Amino acid sequence: MRQSTLFGSTLRDVPAEAEAASHRLLLRGGYIRQLAAGVYSYLPLGWRVLRRIERIVREELDRAGAQELLMPALQPAELWRQSGRYEAYGPELVRLRDRHDREFALGPTHEEVITSLVASEIGSYRKLPVTLYQIQTKFRDERRPRFGLLRGREFLMKDAYSFDLSEEGLERSYEAMRQAYNRILSRCGLAFKLVEADGGTIGDAGGTHEFIALASIGEDTVVSCESCDYAANLEQAQARDFPLAQTENFGTVADNDACPRCAEGKLRLTRGIEVGHVFRLGTKYSEALQARATDSSGEERTLLMGCYGIGLSRLLAAIAEQRHDERGLVWPQSLAPYHAHIIPVSAKNEVQRHIAEQLYDRLTDFGFEALLDDREERAGVKFNDSDLLGIPVRLVVGKEAEQGKVELVFRDGRGGGVYSTEEAVNRLQ
Ligand code: ATP
Ligand code: MG
Ligand code: MG
Ligand code: MG
Repeated sequence: MRQSTLFGSTLRDVPAEAEAASHRLLLRGGYIRQLAAGVYSYLPLGWRVLRRIERIVREELDRAGAQELLMPALQPAELWRQSGRYEAYGPELVRLRDRHDREFALGPTHEEVITSLVASEIGSYRKLPVTLYQIQTKFRDERRPRFGLLRGREFLMKDAYSFDLSEEGLERSYEAMRQAYNRILSRCGLAFKLVEADGGTIGDAGGTHEFIALASIGEDTVVSCESCDYAANLEQAQARDFPLAQTENFGTVADNDACPRCAEGKLRLTRGIEVGHVFRLGTKYSEALQARATDSSGEERTLLMGCYGIGLSRLLAAIAEQRHDERGLVWPQSLAPYHAHIIPVSAKNEVQRHIAEQLYDRLTDFGFEALLDDREERAGVKFNDSDLLGIPVRLVVGKEAEQGKVELVFRDGRGGGVYSTEEAVNRLQ
């Protein structure tokens, strides 16, 4: 990609209300633009990162045996009435009417649709277990959309649903998803904690886990033990592990409190962003929407469900939140919009231009995606923009170009160096 033609430009200033670093940097870098509160366009750079996240998600879910499908965002209110959620969901549910005055909702999640689909498609144990997923735009009329992609009103989610005949089956499906999530988030280069959480309003079977990205801007609080594997979200810790009477701080868990699990370690409270959530749903939706199947002895059973969500657009912002410095973003290689940024220092220098073009072709030949800064800009402007965009590897074509050499610079500060163009290319392979 030639930067002179790249759609979307870098910005010096962003609106004062952009409080989160990820929000500011994604706006400044030309990754996203706001259309309305909590509603964003992904410009080509942002879309490339999002597609890389999607790809990792697909690879890991497919590997775990889940199957991808796509369900409608537009959902009849009738279906939501059957599950009892049309009223219960509250003002976060976007409701609308069609020209015949029939009521609809824009899906904030898809338990109703998937359960009715499975109810009509599966009648016997032979087709079970099954885990289905989609990557789709969700709508939630959040009370306080904020922090850019972290809390949007329209956002991209991967939601998966498992269907089993037995408790043991549900456990296996749940565990498979939990492991897939671990792998997805690790491949995305995220620092996260897996914590015990309560079910909120979706589940009735209890026992859910959240994947929390560690970040000071996060709206969630994680309580974890320094000595054992205890980690819970604050609500869960308070409600389940610290009944009022036992805490010294009038019901508030605090730093240095004793761990309720091992009693030896001290607790630490840290802020984080919920990026993923896995639930055991049990029969809440399959009961209401009559999703049943006969088992191997011919007996009819209500299916046991699990549901599993990752906010892909939120994950993108959470990674940006963790991986940046004062100059800009610092993408991991697995997610960067381009793998390498080629910068001829002087746009007017023929030799530099030639070598930069050669590098660009060589990298393209072996499938390395490069961004070539072919703009007629001062070197300082190019370097500042490059820092802001956060592409992990930079190939600077400057004075040494006369000797056929280029400088390799890593955005995260790892040691680079001056190499012949051949050697520089080899080092990237
Ligand atoms: P939160 O507690 O932050 O409101 P949630 O518990 O309501 O999130 P879930 O219903 O568990 O969210 O949805 C699954 C995932 O979808 C979340 O873990 C999160 O990554 C993502 N998500 C939820 N709401 C939003 C939002 N408004 N904007 C972006 N991503 C979201
Ligand atoms: Mg919510
Ligand atoms: Mg939550
Ligand atoms: Mg949740």
